Amino acid sequence: MKAFYAAEQKRHDPKAFRTSGGVASNPETPERVERLLAGAKAAGCTVVRPNNHGMGPIAAVHTPEYLDFLEHIHPRWRRVEGAPEEVVPSIHPIARDGTYPASAIGQAGYHMADTSCPISAETWESAQWSAWSAVEAADAVRGGERVAYALCRPPGHHAFADVAGGFCFINNSAVVAQHLRRDAARVAILDVDLHHGNGTQGIFYARADVLTVSLHVDPVRFYPFFWGHADERGKDAGLGYNLNLPLPRKTADAGFLEALDAGLKRIRAFAPEALVVALGLDAFEGDPFGGLSVSTPGFARIAEKIAGLGLPTVIVQEGGYLCDELGDNLTSFLTGYGGKG
Ligand SMILES: [Zn+2]
Repeated sequence: MKAFYAAEQKRHDPKAFRTSGGVASNPETPERVERLLAGAKAAGCTVVRPNNHGMGPIAAVHTPEYLDFLEHIHPRWRRVEGAPEEVVPSIHPIARDGTYPASAIGQAGYHMADTSCPISAETWESAQWSAWSAVEAADAVRGGERVAYALCRPPGHHAFADVAGGFCFINNSAVVAQHLRRDAARVAILDVDLHHGNGTQGIFYARADVLTVSLHVDPVRFYPFFWGHADERGKDAGLGYNLNLPLPRKTADAGFLEALDAGLKRIRAFAPEALVVALGLDAFEGDPFGGLSVSTPGFARIAEKIAGLGLPTVIVQEGGYLCDELGDNLTSFLTGYGGKG
């Protein structure tokens, strides 16, 4: 299996993070890349540097004003008197039906859902290369590879069409799904990250050509709180094409695999021509977020079941935070998928 990754993805090094109202260090660190690279290599992956794919595949799922914001906000922010090094919002529109703001502070509040996605001078470059790793993996599968892995960092599944959030800027999984749609009439996205893939759901919520399925800890008391509930089923043409499978806190392998069976059943009924796996490893029992209790061997069993769909598949890295087993969990998943060689 090929693993796509560019060194520029490590340059984004966020500092700010507020959680439960308190100040903490941001867990989406560049060190994650080293652990994930080691894990991919241990699974037999060949690491390949992607090409620059420009804005085309990214602009296919994000709005022009949002991409302009991501590219230019940092120097504009730094001209605000007293502004800190990183762009972090301090005010948000409670509804998004007012006037689009002209100022850096207003736009930060408009385009950033929370305080976990600070933008530094390096963020835009890293986010673009993360997306291009995803595009290149999608192109490998479009070109006939059975499966490819995109080591996307920063991650993407909390990013909406015009809003960053939850460590995410460009929604890499959505970019891949839209890119695969060039050849495939129907694409399914299966998100197994600990957290609900709210951005991905939002991007495809009114569409019937991309099925979104997410397994995650019940958001009733967990990020992202406002999305991920079982009664969110899609809207308009997309009604019935979004499936949320919230799990109780500390659900372990057996419970996760049972919910996965329900997700795979829905995917089979949809009969997609290609699959995107939004692979968070933060469902791990030892992950710092502590939401679910999937074991290291459990990731291989999850992967085996997904591979049983027999679909051309792009595996896109989402969450999974620093713990001794982070690399091993990726190795377990990719090996379980049949990724040797
Ligand atoms: Zn997550």
